[in-house]
Amino acid sequence: MTKPENADGMGLSRREAMQVGAGALLGAAAVIAAGEVAKLAAQGDPQPTPPPATDPRYPMPPRWSRELRQLAPNVYAYTQGGGPGMSAAGVSNTGMIAGPDFLMAIDATQGPLPARGFIATAKQATGKEFGRLINTHHHGDHVNGNQFFPHAEILSHPYCRQECLKAAATTPKMWTPTPGIADAPEERKLVSPSVTFKDDLTYFIGGTEVQFRFAGPAHTWGDMMAYLPQYKILFAGDVGFFWVAPYANNSYISKWIDMCDTIAGWDVDVIVPGHGPIGGKKDLAEMANYFRVLGVETRKRYDAKMPPGVAAAEIRLGRFDNWIGPERLIMDVVRWYEEWDGTLTPDYNANAVRQATIEYNAVKAGKKQADKIIPLSRMEALAEAC
Ligand SMILES: [Zn+2]
Repeated sequence: MTKPENADGMGLSRREAMQVGAGALLGAAAVIAAGEVAKLAAQGDPQPTPPPATDPRYPMPPRWSRELRQLAPNVYAYTQGGGPGMSAAGVSNTGMIAGPDFLMAIDATQGPLPARGFIATAKQATGKEFGRLINTHHHGDHVNGNQFFPHAEILSHPYCRQECLKAAATTPKMWTPTPGIADAPEERKLVSPSVTFKDDLTYFIGGTEVQFRFAGPAHTWGDMMAYLPQYKILFAGDVGFFWVAPYANNSYISKWIDMCDTIAGWDVDVIVPGHGPIGGKKDLAEMANYFRVLGVETRKRYDAKMPPGVAAAEIRLGRFDNWIGPERLIMDVVRWYEEWDGTLTPDYNANAVRQATIEYNAVKAGKKQADKIIPLSRMEALAEAC
């Protein structure tokens, strides 16, 4: 998991900051009746249906599988399985272009299990090894697997490299066994990109033209996407979240929406998102609509000077309430507030998100909606970028 810069400028690591937050959250929970607190505690780890609740009037997301799918000659997408009740929202999809001499990877996944799975599947399909790797941005589920590509030159936007270098300083020395990420302790190292570029860059890999296009600031300040004009394929990185609530802790949401509108004008048939099943322009437009609907609902409450967490507790998003990871609505509301306040920075504001979650839970407790209070473990999970 990413352990980036001081999460709050007070010398706390992100995890430490979240632990402080967990204590504060317990304080908020104290207003709930003792029986309900006991019930909450007994519920333990993440709920199959996390808060806010799904809306039965709208369809649930589809299920999709972990697979290497060939999209065109020498072009592949490796998707992570996901869907309702499957906790893969935090593991990213990757891409692969096969050339005569080497493979190029688009992102490295989160840890030893998914990275080795990707590498082995790629080798089986092509008989080749990875010689280049691009990190679409600095989030852990895209860069933490870099160490498993020892013979690949790693490229990224300078901002991504800078954030990787910061995170590397506090990255644990060993992998902790974690379902779906690592099955045994082993040496861990965050390898930072060694080649950076700020603007568009084109690779010709065998007969495949791969145009890297800078998209930031959008999901982060360093987003790179890969566009393959011959096949009208776009590897969007985390500029695309399909059926998965977009994660905006490092985002500039209005510019992210603008980028989606720009892509709508490109000659693209297939979009591989960072999270969710493979889709197209319609799916990207729908993700932009998530932010638009949220923006309208949030703005009313911002203008009424409502605290962001109280706003998040009131807001319903209709069909988007059913997307995977709905609790991300809280961080997304916080980012909208910061954008309108003029206080937005590229960094994750752990304090603001923690405070908003406490407010959110206080509203739910007041309404005796104990089942909609975000468990402490989920609270900490909000800090894990994706
Ligand atoms: Zn991300």
